[in-house]
Order: sequence, then structure tokens, then C-alpha cells
Amino acid sequence: MESWQELLKKSITDPTDLARSFGLDPEPLRVVAARYPMRINPYYLSLIREVGDPIWKQAIPDARELHDSACHIDPLNEENQSPVPNLVHRYPDRVLFMISSTCAMYCRFCTRKRKVGCAEMAITDKSIATGIDYIREHPEIRDVILSGGDPLLLSDGRLDSILCRLRAIPHVEIIRIGSRVPVVLPQRITPSLVRVLRKYHPLYLNTHFNHPSEITAESAAACARMANVGIPLGNQTVLMRGVNDDPLVMRRLMQQLLQIRVRPYYIYQADLVQGTDHFRTSVEEGLEVIKALRGHTSGLAVPAYVIDAPGGGGKIPLLPDYLQQLGSEVILKNYRGDIYRYSNAAPTVIPVVT
Ligand SMILES: *Cc1c(COP(=O)(O)O)cnc(C)c1O
Ligand code: SF4
Repeated sequence: MESWQELLKKSITDPTDLARSFGLDPEPLRVVAARYPMRINPYYLSLIREVGDPIWKQAIPDARELHDSACHIDPLNEENQSPVPNLVHRYPDRVLFMISSTCAMYCRFCTRKRKVGCAEMAITDKSIATGIDYIREHPEIRDVILSGGDPLLLSDGRLDSILCRLRAIPHVEIIRIGSRVPVVLPQRITPSLVRVLRKYHPLYLNTHFNHPSEITAESAAACARMANVGIPLGNQTVLMRGVNDDPLVMRRLMQQLLQIRVRPYYIYQADLVQGTDHFRTSVEEGLEVIKALRGHTSGLAVPAYVIDAPGGGGKIPLLPDYLQQLGSEVILKNYRGDIYRYSNAAPTVIPVVT
């Protein structure tokens, strides 16, 4: 079997030959790839069945990326919530810490399209050390989310060193890794990598499956290797037009994730990221996806549907209208649309937590 490093080295970064082999004009794709890098390794490429399928849409440049006037470069205002470079401190008790500037595949819909895979995203040993110092100096940080780019593209040794230094900070209760590697380059989840990761429990890993055809023997084996060493696995899906905006496709994805021991965590409404407008659905469509899950299938298969508030307000959950009315009688609607009444208790005065 080829090593993950060899697979990565064989990635396509110039669309010319690919476009020709699918009978397309390479020129428009080349223009897009010059602005937003492309990288598709042979494993993920092998999942494409035809032009325009859900795998294709996620990986192959599209001329519409350059004609998006609706969206913004940094919609979540990450740059202004970064006290030190590549660390976002938005919430009181946790930080997002970017430790890698590259990914095993450049997703066309990426929220950090402005910088992943680009020279601007300078991540060095020094910037990582600065981030770790910041976390050490801020005792309110009890949860560190390693992100990027993709943290699992770092070598085992570098990851070991970062995790070791974070674990040595007493107030860091949990460490999370956000990685698309189990989906786009599952060969990276090697026995030696999981031997590193398992030393740093409680360690959680959120991955990023968007379509049932990404669940393969290889990605299932990668998830099993991590679950077998006690890493709880979650999944964050981005709701995207033409990829997973069909409620039945989404239900199948959530159910198949549970089969590979991955618990659906979030479905994101697409961010307003420049170059991704062609992927966006309406919020109404997102609510229909959730309606088709809750009650109709295992509660474990129902993630929270969230909008990451533009401007950096954080993730806001959205629910269909199950709660119809509050008051002495609460009026509720179930998944079938039937109405139920719940006789409410008188509210006690709850002290305000500040
Ligand atoms: C998503 C995110 C988190 C983590 O949010 P949870 O709801 O705790 O998973 C933390 N910081 C930033 C900047 C984020 O975008
Ligand atoms: S793996 Fe994540 S960070 Fe990298 S391009 Fe895809 S969505 Fe963006």
C-alpha cells in the first residue's frame, strides 16, 4: 500500500490534465486555481464518478468562485479576534488554534479560503510557540481546538511535541482536533499516529464528512483506528447546494456516520465566504433537513444545525418550530406535525450568571 506521504506527493495541483481527461476546457479552471489553490490526492480523486457529482463539486475549481459579489473574505471576523497570529479567542473558555497551513485537499467551500494553502498563512514553530504561551497565560482556557489548515498533516513528531506542551498546561482540560484527513486522506491515520494521539486523553476529534460517498472502506478503517484507542469521534458537515441539500441524502450520511462510530455534531449553514456563494442554500432548506432527521431516525443521528454568526458572534443553533408557544401552557409540535400541550410550572427566579 502507498504511504500517505506518497499519495500526497501525487496530488494534482494544476487542473490542466484533469480538465482534459474529463473533456473540459482547462483555461477557466487554471484561472481559479491561480487564485485559490487546488490539491487533490489520488485517493480523493478516485471517489469522483462524473463531472459535477458531489465529490467533484467539493474538490474541483469552479469559475463561479471568481464571480461572487455577495460574500466576504473573512466573514467570521477571525483576524480581529486573534490576540496572537493564528489563534482565535472568541468564546470565554476555549480557543481555536491553527497549527497547520496546508490540507490534504483544498475544499472549494472552505471558510478559510482566504488563506489556507497560501503564503499568507505563515505558521512556524515560533508562531506555534507563541500560541501555546498565550494559552498558558490564560487560565480561563479549558478547551483547545487544533485546526488549520489540517493539523493531521503535521508529522507525528511535531504533533507529539505540540500536544505534549498543551497537556502540560494544568488548566487545559480537553484538547480537540478538527481534521478532514479521515475523509480526504484516510491513509494518514496510521498506527504510529494513533500511538501519539492516545497519549493525550481526553482528546476529541471532529472530522468533516459531507456526503455518503465519502464513507469508504478506507475512511471507515481510519475512524476505527481512532475509536479503538478511545478517541471520541464527531462530525461537522457543511450544508451545500448540490452536495447534501437533499434531506434523504443527509439522513443517509448521518446514519452511515454512526455505523463507522462517528457521532454527528454540527450541520453548518454555509458561511458567507467569498468564492463560495454557489454552494449556499437558504436557511429554510436547512430547517427542512433537520425536520427530516428529528424523530424520523435515531436521536444520535441528529446534530445541531448552526449558523456561525457573520462578524464573529459564534455559532447560533436553529430549530424548526417545535416550540409553538410559551406560557402557563406550552404548545408543542412533534415531528409528525401533531400538536401537544404541556402544563407549565410557574417560573422561579433564576439568578443571572455573568
Ligand atoms: C467553532 C469554534 C469553536 C468551538 O465551538 P463549539 O461550539 O464549542 O464546538 C471555538 N472557537 C471558534 C473561534 C470557533 O469557530
Ligand atoms: S480541509 Fe478544512 S481547512 Fe482545509 S480546505 Fe477543507 S475545509 Fe478548509
